[in-house]
Amino acid sequence: MIDQVFAGLEIRDLRVVFDGFVAVDGVDLTVPRGDIRFLIGPNGAGKTTIVDAVTGLAKATGSVLFGEQQLLGKDVHTIARMGVGRTFQTATVFDELSVLQNLDIAAGAGRGPLTLLRRRSGVPPRVEQALETIGLTEALHRPAGILAHGQKQWLEIGMLLVQDAKLLLLDEPVAGMSADERDTTGELLGVIAQDRTVVIVEHDMDFLRRYARTVTVLHAGAVLSEGSVAQVQADPRVQEVYLGTASAGEHTSAGEHTSAGEHADDDVRSA
Ligand code: ADP
Ligand code: MG
Repeated sequence: MIDQVFAGLEIRDLRVVFDGFVAVDGVDLTVPRGDIRFLIGPNGAGKTTIVDAVTGLAKATGSVLFGEQQLLGKDVHTIARMGVGRTFQTATVFDELSVLQNLDIAAGAGRGPLTLLRRRSGVPPRVEQALETIGLTEALHRPAGILAHGQKQWLEIGMLLVQDAKLLLLDEPVAGMSADERDTTGELLGVIAQDRTVVIVEHDMDFLRRYARTVTVLHAGAVLSEGSVAQVQADPRVQEVYLGTASAGEHTSAGEHTSAGEHADDDVRSA
Protein backbone atom coordinates (compact mmCIF):
# COMPACT_ATOMS: atom_id res chain seq x y z
CA MET A 1 0.00 0.00 0.00
CA ILE A 2 1.22 3.45 -0.87
CA ASP A 3 2.09 5.66 2.08
CA GLN A 4 -0.91 7.76 2.99
CA VAL A 5 0.02 11.37 3.21
CA PHE A 6 -1.89 14.33 4.48
CA ALA A 7 -1.53 16.39 1.37
CA GLY A 8 -3.20 19.01 -0.72
CA LEU A 9 -4.64 18.74 -4.19
CA GLU A 10 -3.20 20.46 -7.23
CA ILE A 11 -5.17 20.24 -10.45
CA ARG A 12 -3.74 21.71 -13.63
CA ASP A 13 -5.41 22.17 -17.00
CA LEU A 14 -7.96 19.46 -16.34
CA ARG A 15 -10.04 18.59 -19.36
CA VAL A 16 -12.83 16.04 -19.68
CA VAL A 17 -14.54 15.50 -23.00
CA PHE A 18 -17.61 13.27 -23.39
CA ASP A 19 -18.20 12.34 -27.00
CA GLY A 20 -17.06 15.73 -28.25
CA PHE A 21 -18.81 17.63 -25.44
CA VAL A 22 -16.33 19.50 -23.25
CA ALA A 23 -17.59 19.03 -19.68
CA VAL A 24 -14.42 20.30 -17.97
CA ASP A 25 -12.49 22.87 -19.94
CA GLY A 26 -9.01 23.47 -18.57
CA VAL A 27 -9.60 23.74 -14.84
CA ASP A 28 -6.80 24.77 -12.46
CA LEU A 29 -7.60 24.13 -8.82
CA THR A 30 -5.26 24.26 -5.84
CA VAL A 31 -6.66 23.03 -2.54
CA PRO A 32 -4.13 23.33 0.29
CA ARG A 33 -3.93 20.56 2.87
CA GLY A 34 -6.48 21.01 5.63
CA ASP A 35 -8.76 23.17 3.52
CA ILE A 36 -12.52 22.78 3.32
CA ARG A 37 -13.04 23.85 -0.28
CA PHE A 38 -16.54 24.22 -1.60
CA LEU A 39 -17.18 23.76 -5.33
CA ILE A 40 -20.31 25.53 -6.45
CA GLY A 41 -21.89 26.44 -9.75
CA PRO A 42 -25.09 25.85 -11.70
CA ASN A 43 -26.17 22.34 -12.65
CA GLY A 44 -24.00 21.07 -15.47
CA ALA A 45 -21.05 23.29 -14.51
CA GLY A 46 -18.79 20.22 -14.30
CA LYS A 47 -18.48 19.81 -10.53
CA THR A 48 -19.25 16.10 -10.37
CA THR A 49 -17.14 15.47 -13.46
CA ILE A 50 -14.13 17.05 -11.73
CA VAL A 51 -14.66 14.72 -8.76
CA ASP A 52 -15.01 11.82 -11.21
CA ALA A 53 -11.75 12.79 -12.94
CA VAL A 54 -9.84 13.10 -9.66
CA THR A 55 -11.07 9.70 -8.48
CA GLY A 56 -10.44 7.88 -11.76
CA LEU A 57 -14.05 7.48 -12.89
CA ALA A 58 -13.82 9.91 -15.80
CA LYS A 59 -11.02 9.93 -18.33
CA ALA A 60 -9.26 13.27 -18.28
CA THR A 61 -6.17 15.08 -19.47
CA GLY A 62 -4.01 17.51 -17.56
CA SER A 63 -2.53 16.87 -14.15
CA VAL A 64 -3.99 15.97 -10.76
CA LEU A 65 -1.38 15.91 -8.03
CA PHE A 66 -2.28 14.69 -4.56
CA GLY A 67 0.84 15.68 -2.67
CA GLU A 68 3.62 14.34 -4.85
CA GLN A 69 1.49 11.66 -6.44
CA GLN A 70 -0.03 11.93 -9.89
CA LEU A 71 -3.60 10.60 -9.88
CA LEU A 72 -4.45 10.98 -13.56
CA GLY A 73 -4.05 7.77 -15.47
CA LYS A 74 -4.46 5.61 -12.35
CA ASP A 75 -7.51 3.40 -11.95
CA VAL A 76 -10.25 3.90 -9.34
CA HIS A 77 -8.90 1.32 -6.89
CA THR A 78 -5.33 2.54 -7.05
CA ILE A 79 -6.49 6.09 -6.40
CA ALA A 80 -8.57 4.92 -3.43
CA ARG A 81 -5.53 3.12 -2.03
CA MET A 82 -3.53 6.32 -2.43
CA GLY A 83 -5.80 7.90 0.18
CA VAL A 84 -8.42 9.58 -1.95
CA GLY A 85 -12.08 8.90 -1.15
CA ARG A 86 -15.34 10.25 -2.48
CA THR A 87 -19.03 10.07 -1.78
CA PHE A 88 -21.77 10.10 -4.39
CA GLN A 89 -24.86 12.28 -4.71
CA THR A 90 -26.84 9.18 -3.84
CA ALA A 91 -25.41 7.29 -0.87
CA THR A 92 -23.94 3.94 -1.83
CA VAL A 93 -24.07 1.95 1.41
CA PHE A 94 -25.15 -1.68 1.56
CA ASP A 95 -28.72 -1.48 2.90
CA GLU A 96 -28.94 -5.13 4.00
CA LEU A 97 -25.76 -4.97 6.05
CA SER A 98 -25.31 -3.36 9.44
CA VAL A 99 -23.44 -0.13 10.01
CA LEU A 100 -20.53 -2.16 11.39
CA GLN A 101 -20.51 -4.52 8.43
CA ASN A 102 -20.47 -1.61 6.01
CA LEU A 103 -17.48 -0.13 7.82
CA ASP A 104 -15.83 -3.53 7.95
CA ILE A 105 -16.12 -3.94 4.22
CA ALA A 106 -14.64 -0.52 3.67
CA ALA A 107 -11.81 -1.25 6.11
CA GLY A 108 -11.07 -4.60 4.61
CA ALA A 109 -10.66 -3.71 0.97
CA GLY A 110 -7.64 -6.04 0.95
CA ARG A 111 -9.21 -8.91 2.89
CA GLY A 112 -11.15 -11.91 1.64
CA PRO A 113 -14.94 -11.79 1.43
CA LEU A 114 -15.45 -14.47 4.11
CA THR A 115 -13.55 -12.62 6.83
CA LEU A 116 -15.41 -9.51 5.84
CA LEU A 117 -18.88 -10.87 6.39
CA ARG A 118 -18.18 -12.99 9.45
CA ARG A 119 -19.72 -11.48 12.55
CA ARG A 120 -16.88 -10.18 14.68
CA SER A 121 -16.58 -10.15 18.44
CA GLY A 122 -14.55 -7.00 18.75
CA VAL A 123 -14.65 -3.78 16.83
CA PRO A 124 -11.25 -2.75 15.45
CA PRO A 125 -9.99 0.60 16.83
CA ARG A 126 -10.08 2.29 13.44
CA VAL A 127 -13.73 1.33 12.95
CA GLU A 128 -14.59 2.32 16.50
CA GLN A 129 -13.01 5.73 16.01
CA ALA A 130 -14.87 6.24 12.72
CA LEU A 131 -18.16 5.25 14.40
CA GLU A 132 -17.55 7.87 17.03
CA THR A 133 -16.59 10.56 14.54
CA ILE A 134 -19.72 10.01 12.46
CA GLY A 135 -21.92 9.66 15.53
CA LEU A 136 -23.23 6.17 14.74
CA THR A 137 -21.82 4.22 17.68
CA GLU A 138 -25.33 3.53 18.99
CA ALA A 139 -26.48 2.38 15.56
CA LEU A 140 -23.64 -0.14 15.22
CA HIS A 141 -25.81 -3.19 14.54
CA ARG A 142 -28.63 -1.43 12.74
CA PRO A 143 -29.10 -2.32 9.06
CA ALA A 144 -27.88 0.59 6.97
CA GLY A 145 -31.14 0.48 5.02
CA ILE A 146 -33.17 1.77 7.95
CA LEU A 147 -30.85 4.66 8.79
CA ALA A 148 -32.10 8.20 8.36
CA HIS A 149 -30.98 9.94 5.20
CA GLY A 150 -28.34 11.99 7.03
CA GLN A 151 -26.99 8.95 8.84
CA LYS A 152 -26.46 7.16 5.52
CA GLN A 153 -24.32 10.03 4.27
CA TRP A 154 -22.34 9.97 7.53
CA LEU A 155 -21.88 6.22 7.19
CA GLU A 156 -20.52 6.75 3.72
CA ILE A 157 -18.11 9.33 5.09
CA GLY A 158 -17.20 6.86 7.85
CA MET A 159 -16.37 4.28 5.20
CA LEU A 160 -13.83 6.72 3.77
CA LEU A 161 -12.38 7.36 7.22
CA VAL A 162 -11.74 3.66 7.90
CA GLN A 163 -10.09 3.47 4.49
CA ASP A 164 -7.80 6.18 5.82
CA ALA A 165 -8.67 8.60 3.04
CA LYS A 166 -6.69 11.82 3.43
CA LEU A 167 -8.44 13.63 0.62
CA LEU A 168 -12.23 13.48 0.75
CA LEU A 169 -14.41 14.60 -2.12
CA LEU A 170 -18.05 14.85 -1.08
CA ASP A 171 -20.69 15.32 -3.76
CA GLU A 172 -23.69 17.21 -2.39
CA PRO A 173 -23.74 15.48 1.00
CA VAL A 174 -26.37 17.70 2.63
CA ALA A 175 -28.92 17.57 -0.19
CA GLY A 176 -32.18 16.37 1.36
CA MET A 177 -30.92 16.69 4.93
CA SER A 178 -32.86 18.34 7.73
CA ALA A 179 -31.48 21.52 9.32
CA ASP A 180 -30.20 19.53 12.29
CA GLU A 181 -28.53 16.98 10.04
CA ARG A 182 -26.86 19.82 8.15
CA ASP A 183 -25.47 21.29 11.36
CA THR A 184 -24.11 17.92 12.40
CA THR A 185 -22.56 17.46 8.96
CA GLY A 186 -20.94 20.89 9.12
CA GLU A 187 -19.39 20.06 12.47
CA LEU A 188 -18.27 16.71 11.09
CA LEU A 189 -16.45 18.54 8.28
CA GLY A 190 -14.45 20.51 10.81
CA VAL A 191 -13.39 17.34 12.62
CA ILE A 192 -12.49 15.56 9.38
CA ALA A 193 -10.42 18.47 8.10
CA GLN A 194 -8.18 18.46 11.18
CA ASP A 195 -5.93 15.99 9.43
CA ARG A 196 -7.45 15.71 5.99
CA THR A 197 -8.23 17.83 2.97
CA VAL A 198 -11.89 18.18 2.03
CA VAL A 199 -13.44 19.16 -1.29
CA ILE A 200 -17.20 19.45 -1.15
CA VAL A 201 -19.71 20.05 -3.92
CA GLU A 202 -22.66 21.84 -2.42
CA HIS A 203 -25.51 24.05 -3.51
CA ASP A 204 -26.88 24.99 -0.13
CA MET A 205 -25.83 28.61 0.30
CA ASP A 206 -26.58 28.79 4.01
CA PHE A 207 -24.45 25.70 4.58
CA LEU A 208 -21.70 27.16 2.42
CA ARG A 209 -21.63 30.43 4.31
CA ARG A 210 -21.30 28.61 7.60
CA TYR A 211 -18.78 25.94 6.79
CA ALA A 212 -16.72 26.81 3.71
CA ARG A 213 -13.15 27.91 4.25
CA THR A 214 -12.65 28.67 0.56
CA VAL A 215 -14.92 28.53 -2.48
CA THR A 216 -14.38 27.84 -6.16
CA VAL A 217 -17.22 28.78 -8.49
CA LEU A 218 -17.48 26.77 -11.69
CA HIS A 219 -19.45 27.65 -14.75
CA ALA A 220 -19.62 25.84 -18.09
CA GLY A 221 -16.66 23.63 -17.23
CA ALA A 222 -14.34 26.45 -16.16
CA VAL A 223 -13.41 28.31 -12.99
CA LEU A 224 -15.41 31.52 -12.80
CA SER A 225 -14.29 32.83 -9.42
CA GLU A 226 -12.39 31.76 -6.34
CA GLY A 227 -11.72 32.99 -2.82
CA SER A 228 -13.41 33.37 0.52
CA VAL A 229 -17.21 33.20 0.74
CA ALA A 230 -17.33 37.00 0.95
CA GLN A 231 -15.05 37.39 -2.06
CA VAL A 232 -17.04 35.13 -4.39
CA GLN A 233 -20.34 36.59 -3.18
CA ALA A 234 -19.09 40.05 -4.10
CA ASP A 235 -17.91 38.95 -7.56
CA PRO A 236 -20.24 40.38 -10.23
CA ARG A 237 -19.56 37.41 -12.55
CA VAL A 238 -20.83 35.06 -9.85
CA GLN A 239 -23.89 37.19 -9.24
CA GLU A 240 -24.65 37.12 -12.94
CA VAL A 241 -24.53 33.33 -13.08
CA TYR A 242 -26.69 32.99 -9.98
CA LEU A 243 -29.23 35.59 -11.05
CA GLY A 244 -31.81 35.03 -13.77
CA THR A 245 -29.07 33.91 -16.13
CA ALA A 246 -28.47 30.65 -14.28
CA SER A 247 -30.74 28.58 -16.46
CA ALA A 248 -29.39 30.17 -19.63
CA GLY A 249 -25.89 29.38 -18.38
CA GLU A 250 -26.61 25.74 -17.74
CA HIS A 251 -25.48 23.34 -20.34
CA THR A 252 -27.22 20.33 -18.95
CA SER A 253 -27.96 17.45 -21.24
CA ALA A 254 -27.91 13.69 -21.25
CA GLY A 255 -25.87 12.28 -18.41
CA GLU A 256 -26.89 14.94 -15.92
CA HIS A 257 -26.85 13.17 -12.61
CA THR A 258 -28.03 15.94 -10.37
CA SER A 259 -31.53 15.23 -9.19
CA ALA A 260 -33.10 18.55 -9.95
CA GLY A 261 -32.89 22.06 -11.23
CA GLU A 262 -34.13 23.40 -7.92
CA HIS A 263 -30.65 24.66 -7.04
CA ALA A 264 -30.63 27.16 -9.87
CA ASP A 265 -32.74 29.44 -7.71
CA ASP A 266 -30.12 29.70 -5.00
CA ASP A 267 -28.97 33.25 -4.81
CA VAL A 268 -25.32 33.39 -3.91
CA ARG A 269 -25.64 36.98 -2.74
CA SER A 270 -28.36 36.60 -0.12
CA ALA A 271 -26.83 36.70 3.32
P1 ADP B 1 -22.53 19.32 -12.15
O1 ADP B 1 -22.10 18.27 -11.21
O2 ADP B 1 -21.76 20.59 -12.00
O3 ADP B 1 -24.01 19.56 -12.10
P2 ADP B 1 -21.66 17.44 -14.16
O4 ADP B 1 -20.21 17.36 -13.89
O5 ADP B 1 -22.52 16.33 -13.69
O6 ADP B 1 -22.22 18.83 -13.63
O7 ADP B 1 -21.90 17.56 -15.70
C1 ADP B 1 -21.21 18.49 -16.52
C2 ADP B 1 -21.70 18.33 -17.92
O8 ADP B 1 -21.21 17.11 -18.47
C3 ADP B 1 -23.22 18.28 -18.05
O9 ADP B 1 -23.59 18.95 -19.22
C4 ADP B 1 -23.50 16.81 -18.15
O10 ADP B 1 -24.68 16.59 -18.87
C5 ADP B 1 -22.29 16.30 -18.89
N1 ADP B 1 -21.96 14.92 -18.54
C6 ADP B 1 -21.68 14.45 -17.31
N2 ADP B 1 -21.42 13.13 -17.33
C7 ADP B 1 -21.54 12.75 -18.63
C8 ADP B 1 -21.40 11.51 -19.31
N3 ADP B 1 -21.06 10.38 -18.67
N4 ADP B 1 -21.61 11.51 -20.65
C9 ADP B 1 -21.95 12.65 -21.32
N5 ADP B 1 -22.09 13.84 -20.73
C10 ADP B 1 -21.89 13.90 -19.39
MG1 MG C 1 -23.20 17.11 -9.84
